[in-house]
Amino acid sequence: MAASKCTRLGGELSRRFVASVDTVLFDCDGVLWRGDEAVPGAPELVNELKLRGKRVFYLTNNSTKTRAMYAEKLGRLGFGAEPSEVFGTAYCTAVYLRDMARLAGKVYLIGGQALSQELGAAGIPHLGQGPDPLTGGFSDWARVDRDPQVKAVVVGFDEHFNYMKLNRALQYLQDPSCLFIATNTDTRLPLEGGRAVPGTGCLVRAVETAAHRKAQVIGKPNSFIYDCVVKECGLEPSRTVMVGDRLDTDILMGSSCGIRTLLTLTGFSSLEDAKSYQKSGSDSMVPDYYVDSVADLLPALSEQDQ
Ligand SMILES: [Mg+2]
Repeated sequence: MAASKCTRLGGELSRRFVASVDTVLFDCDGVLWRGDEAVPGAPELVNELKLRGKRVFYLTNNSTKTRAMYAEKLGRLGFGAEPSEVFGTAYCTAVYLRDMARLAGKVYLIGGQALSQELGAAGIPHLGQGPDPLTGGFSDWARVDRDPQVKAVVVGFDEHFNYMKLNRALQYLQDPSCLFIATNTDTRLPLEGGRAVPGTGCLVRAVETAAHRKAQVIGKPNSFIYDCVVKECGLEPSRTVMVGDRLDTDILMGSSCGIRTLLTLTGFSSLEDAKSYQKSGSDSMVPDYYVDSVADLLPALSEQDQ
């Protein structure tokens, strides 16, 4: 029987679905929590999944927290996670530079404390974090001091982003051998009450525009975070599901990695968004299944045999 996409999970279907899954990959914001509050029922679901022997991992584009900081937040909200279950872009960027790029040199970092800590933990020397006030004029900016050991520019979320940092990134990236990595390209960070602030994607686009180059992106929808989970923990793709609230990151990544996808409607994307992608034939952004909230899966779990 060919599975039709964008099917609501409930009842018997939900029970069969849960039985067919060994590993659940969760996005966090909009899925397990909103701001600083857990989605009702989400901690119970995650704990119940683990009790039934399912493995759970957390995949997030947010670069402002280390694995340890994420585990702490998950624990505080009732999820009880280990740092080794968290795959965020701060950690995965460090892994990429160390294991894939095998960087022999320093990073010029546009990013915050968490990225700096994860680079440090991976043994990658870096500079640039913190405020960098603008001084001088045009001719000084083009001749700004450059550390000859810098072999990569990394752009993540940086609340101190300014013209001086943009200029330094350009000066390094004029060398075509200098790597150019972005943690993620999310355009906005959603806040309570429908408000939002500019996300890392805005900073990445500014640097790309100045450098006339495209960054290599670590975060979803690219598959590198998923590849990290596979490499470190192993998983069976046919028994794995990606659960997310965004069609253009979480669901697209799951589709392109060949795993099943589940959209939850507690966050960014709506069912109407999914249906309109389905109508226009953009199947990779249409989830296999959807639920109003991840808590909707709880009854299916309690009906499982122990
Ligand atoms: Mg999300």
